[in-house]
Amino acid sequence: MSCIFCKIVAGEIPCHKVFEDENLLAFLDIHPCNPGHTLVIPKQHFENLLETPAVVVLQLMNGVHTLAPRVVAAVGAHGFNLGVNTGPASGQVIMHTHAHIIPRFEHDGLVHWPTKEMTSDELHQITLKICKGI
Ligand code: AMP
Ligand code: ZN
Repeated sequence: MSCIFCKIVAGEIPCHKVFEDENLLAFLDIHPCNPGHTLVIPKQHFENLLETPAVVVLQLMNGVHTLAPRVVAAVGAHGFNLGVNTGPASGQVIMHTHAHIIPRFEHDGLVHWPTKEMTSDELHQITLKICKGI
């Protein structure tokens, strides 16, 4: 088994565990964006969100819903970002499905991703493709 998160689940690599149940494990990110940055993972190995069965995604989101307020309260944050990087182009480095709960503070210096200008026609063409399921 080469997956680092599977090794954490198996107890072969230590982690700062904040939650565990039958299906999920949550622990602090070793390189946090902000204090309290938490990763929530299914115990079962799936490569990314889209490879994860819907029932497991629901368990994952339920865990996020339970844990996010605890994380926010623990570090006195004012909000949080939820991120699920999916695929290398998105910045996914660990190929085991995980959700990032990133606590946010007013003026914490983290910047939002930049935006692009698109015409109404360009937006419309993409809308049609998504609606058609292409
Ligand atoms: P991603 O880029 O979405 O794949 O995020 C992977 C995250 O896992 C990064 O934020 C890393 O800091 C974090 N990470 C990597 N190894 C460990 C570890 N052993 N314990 C906790 N977090 C880790
Ligand atoms: Zn794994």
